[in-house]
Amino acid sequence: MDRVYNFSAGPAALPVKVLEKAQKQLVAYESAGMSVMEMSHRSAAFEEIIANAQEMLRRLMNIPPNYHVLFLQGGASSQFSMVPMNLMRQGKADFVITGQWAKKAAEEAARYGSVNKIASSADRTFAYIPELDTDTFDREADYFHITVNNTIFGTRFSSLPDTGNVPLVTDMSSSILSEVYDVNRFGLIYAGAQKNIGPAGLTIVIIRDDLVGTTLPGTPTMFDYKVHVENKSLYNTPPTFAVYIAMLVFEWLLEQGGVSAIQRLNEEKAALLYDFLDASKLFEGTVDRRDRSLMNVPFVTGKPDVDAKFIKEAKQAGLVNLGGHRSVGGMRASIYNAMPREGVEALVVFMKKFEADNI
Ligand SMILES: *Cc1c(COP(=O)(O)O)cnc(C)c1O
Repeated sequence: MDRVYNFSAGPAALPVKVLEKAQKQLVAYESAGMSVMEMSHRSAAFEEIIANAQEMLRRLMNIPPNYHVLFLQGGASSQFSMVPMNLMRQGKADFVITGQWAKKAAEEAARYGSVNKIASSADRTFAYIPELDTDTFDREADYFHITVNNTIFGTRFSSLPDTGNVPLVTDMSSSILSEVYDVNRFGLIYAGAQKNIGPAGLTIVIIRDDLVGTTLPGTPTMFDYKVHVENKSLYNTPPTFAVYIAMLVFEWLLEQGGVSAIQRLNEEKAALLYDFLDASKLFEGTVDRRDRSLMNVPFVTGKPDVDAKFIKEAKQAGLVNLGGHRSVGGMRASIYNAMPREGVEALVVFMKKFEADNI
């Protein structure tokens, strides 16, 4: 069966080369004589996989030695709780509310302390990144949280707030490895793997050493970063197969020239689509230009029946999962690292034809 171009926001497309390699190694991994899925997480073969995955991610993101890399489970949604349980020692944190995920992160944090909402873009359905006034930042806060790329609404922070000594914490689920980030700017980065890294079930945490320490009373062992740091992400059984696929994706990314090379490609892919939207008489992007995401591109025709027709006909043309998030409607094309330029070109060709037929 032929593959389609999959514009899903997550779980999302993986590089075909990675899937093919995994297929080759599915029944017997190298000399182990068994599938990675069947292996003990304490075996030499798996210890090598997880060590390689970490080493490659460190190289890709240029992660300094004073940061730990953790391979956890529970998704980004568990990090909404794990971050405050570990970091909210004074009982307060600053949040910028740029969409549903930021809102959820703030709601969970509010169970452990006071959440100071610095700014929000809720007034225009999160179609922009609000201006931040550093005078409103709490210089005594335990941390400052942003969602650097907003998967649902298609916005991104193109510059990071200057939080001084307050650790900047970010949900990077939908933009990790898509553009160059200076890890030094962050105290903690977390990301669910299923957008830009690999299969669902794996969650990456990158945490600065000085933030690993005392947790709030009552914190479950599994929610303590220190436990996972001390046990090198092998306190309990990690999502072994997902870690293995992530390793293959990291290897693929290194072959593509690393993050700066994929960023250039991502910028070209996004420009193809945004330039078309800006010139279109039928379709319209929903996000303020300067805040547009490179990864998630929402757009509308303004007519729900035309949107529905577009999504249906696109699917018939092999361009699938173009429906917007269930909370916002319209369309959204997620164009993560694994989406080839040809996929975006095919989408633009199809949109042009649809426009000619429907205007
Ligand atoms: C998808 C997503 C989440 C939710 O991730 P889960 O792994 O399902 O918990 C949170 N934040 C962002 C930015 C996302 O894109």
